[in-house]
Amino acid sequence: MSLKKRIIMAYARTKLTSRKVSEDVENPLHDWVQLKVRNTFKREEGFRKALGRDSLGDIDRKTFEEYQLYKFRKQMAYVMENSPFYQKMYGEAGIRPEDIRTMADLDKVPLTDPDDLAEEPFLFLCLSQSKISRTFSTSGTSGKPKRLFYTSDDLLNIVDSIAAALRSTGLKSSETLHIMFPAVVAWDPSLMLESACKVAGLKSIVCSDVNVDEQMRVMQEQQTKVIIGLTSFIYRVTVLARDKFDLRSLGLKAIICSSEPLSEAVRHEMEEAWGCKCLSQYGLTEMGLATTIECHVQTGLHINEADFMVEVIDPDTGKTLPPGEEGELVWTSLSFQGSPLLRYRSYDISKFIVPPCECGHVTVGKIGKPKGRRNAATKIGLGEHIFPTLFDEAIMKVHGVLNYQLVLTKPSFRDHLHFTVEYNGDMEKGREEVLRAITDLEEIRSSMDNDLLDPIEVEMKEVSLEFTPKMKPIIDQRKRFDE
Ligand SMILES: [Zn+2]
Repeated sequence: MSLKKRIIMAYARTKLTSRKVSEDVENPLHDWVQLKVRNTFKREEGFRKALGRDSLGDIDRKTFEEYQLYKFRKQMAYVMENSPFYQKMYGEAGIRPEDIRTMADLDKVPLTDPDDLAEEPFLFLCLSQSKISRTFSTSGTSGKPKRLFYTSDDLLNIVDSIAAALRSTGLKSSETLHIMFPAVVAWDPSLMLESACKVAGLKSIVCSDVNVDEQMRVMQEQQTKVIIGLTSFIYRVTVLARDKFDLRSLGLKAIICSSEPLSEAVRHEMEEAWGCKCLSQYGLTEMGLATTIECHVQTGLHINEADFMVEVIDPDTGKTLPPGEEGELVWTSLSFQGSPLLRYRSYDISKFIVPPCECGHVTVGKIGKPKGRRNAATKIGLGEHIFPTLFDEAIMKVHGVLNYQLVLTKPSFRDHLHFTVEYNGDMEKGREEVLRAITDLEEIRSSMDNDLLDPIEVEMKEVSLEFTPKMKPIIDQRKRFDE
């Protein structure tokens, strides 16, 4: 690394709040969020005024919500001044930042849809392009890519958030993080994570090898303490390595499963194999990815609420739902400057869980494990909407299953279910177990009892040498007359 680069890096590091939280505290994420609120109180008169206090004292949930509302108003004023999209939308709605006094007032602020962003990304850009350090593109459901703009401070903010989340799993700067995303995914989270670790002063190694022996060699050599990666990729390595290696002897502190949902079945298998906690991480590309991480209590994912506000709405009416009720997650970026999004619809279904949490978080809330996109739900037989996670829980529980896919057809008046299962072990025994796991599901059994399903087909497939990204779990080929 050149001297100039080293100086830039050292300077960037001084800006990270995560560097100021001691490694030995019990709950680094909690202390990090609190420190961010304290810094804002110290630096910004607007926040002190909004609180009407000259000393902050303990930061309870109420104070924390005041902080969020203050940041929301400030961000709203900022986008109304700089983003043509928000100028127009809020102007037409006749809403101003000062109208937002309480959490209930947020309902008055119109929602932003991903389609708006895909349609005209430049209308969201708040600064001249010369101030933008990175542009991210993400593929949208509509097919048009969405573009997001980040300043260098935005990027540091993301790095800080990643570092705080990693530390919350127990990772110390002297220990190695093993980054494990397959090279086949279209975007490369490995590089982003690796450079984030560099800036934050954490040790990391990227290993994308599909060869299990190679993965294990690198981990042993580097004395890996935490793994982060694509859920199905880590799971594949686990299933193929557990009979050959003593995985527990590595003494891992945690495994962070990213980018795909983590079913309880897969979590259980991995925790048994490695002897450590397996934690879920969920992020929205539009929010810079590093937005939530599960704590060791494993009943939800803590949100980086210092930088993001999460609301849950009824997807049909758009009305805000009370904590604990399931609905669609809506995100607001409270800190970004490049192209911040306010009340942005994710179409992901989950719920908000208020603090405190058993892990010690008193200010920061959680979301329940996201169930996936609302449109990922399928109706089978009589049933209600079935999310792919239902089959995940049943099928991945069968020892030796790596991956599966369901193709749904309707040759007659009955639904026809054909499962293809990638499996490591005795095929016939595996097939029987998978079939039993599926037919034991209440939702499936009642449809069968009502003669709404053909006999279920399960086709077993040998483990391939190549890693293929997780198959789309459900492919629905039924003709629909209601759309
Ligand atoms: Zn917790």
